[in-house]
Amino acid sequence: MDANMKTVGRFAPSPTGRMHLGNIFAALVSWLSARKQGGKWILRIEDLDPQRSRREYALRIEDDLHWLGLDWDEGGTDATGPHGPYCQSLRGDFYEEALRRLEESGLTYPCYCTRSDIMATQAPHESDGRVVYASTCRPPRLGGRFENPDCGKAPRATRLFVPDEEILFADRVYGRQEVNLARHCGDFVVRRADGAWAYQLAVVVDDALMGVTEVVRGCDLLLSSAQQIYLYRLLDRQPPQFAHFPLLCNESGQRLSKRDSSLSMEALRRDYTPSQIIGQLAYYAGLLPQPFPISAQGLLPLFSWSAIYPTTSITV
Ligand code: GLU
Ligand code: ZN
Repeated sequence: MDANMKTVGRFAPSPTGRMHLGNIFAALVSWLSARKQGGKWILRIEDLDPQRSRREYALRIEDDLHWLGLDWDEGGTDATGPHGPYCQSLRGDFYEEALRRLEESGLTYPCYCTRSDIMATQAPHESDGRVVYASTCRPPRLGGRFENPDCGKAPRATRLFVPDEEILFADRVYGRQEVNLARHCGDFVVRRADGAWAYQLAVVVDDALMGVTEVVRGCDLLLSSAQQIYLYRLLDRQPPQFAHFPLLCNESGQRLSKRDSSLSMEALRRDYTPSQIIGQLAYYAGLLPQPFPISAQGLLPLFSWSAIYPTTSITV
């Protein structure tokens, strides 16, 4: 990466419910990292799944970020800007163009398996128990105009061939990673049978077009970075720097979710001040020796990636 290039970070929430402490942690760490480097921070709304995404939730996320003192330079629900629109539901033309390039490379094929692509719009968090695709519909020879005998009957998803080779990258927290996509996920869906765009394709197209230079998010997406690096390669784009951080987990060791209602923004805003929440999160991140109230802005001088310990989870 060009040393003079300005840092561009982003927060990319899916508006499928109210944020919880884990989502705020993600927002805070990526905001701190971008701001500490004097960079920009973009808010992108990942509303790819029409069934689960709601505009009200996106507006709530924005209000909660304001309340926490996490300001963004570009993006948000109704924003226009140099890289807009900032809602994935409005960015279909960009994904279409990328898909066309992938198709031209001869590495895509139609998949007629039912249900297999349902999860595609969602980021594949490790604990969701995903399976490796068995290559059922992969044509014997790629690049040719393969047609499945069932063609015309079933709607089809589009899958992308992955090579049996190691993808190497260095994560800022977890260090050197080596992922074989054939073993990790197999050929993956880039567009669902119902036309919805897959998370992996959309996230790469958006991060590339928005000029994002660092992707900061929970470590359950660490291995997804390999799928994304592969897409950057095929689309002839430079991948960003990846930095993952440990997940906040409840006492049973599960990643926090919308079900942990005592840690939802609704309860948190009722019971605490923004500085108390930021102080608690800073303590979990290893940035404070004890939790004490501090604003996001006040935490900036204390932020350092070296404080973040490469464990997989932090119990809250
Ligand atoms: N929308 C994704 C999620 O909620 C974000 C993934 C990412 O940061 O790449 O998990
Ligand atoms: Zn299939």
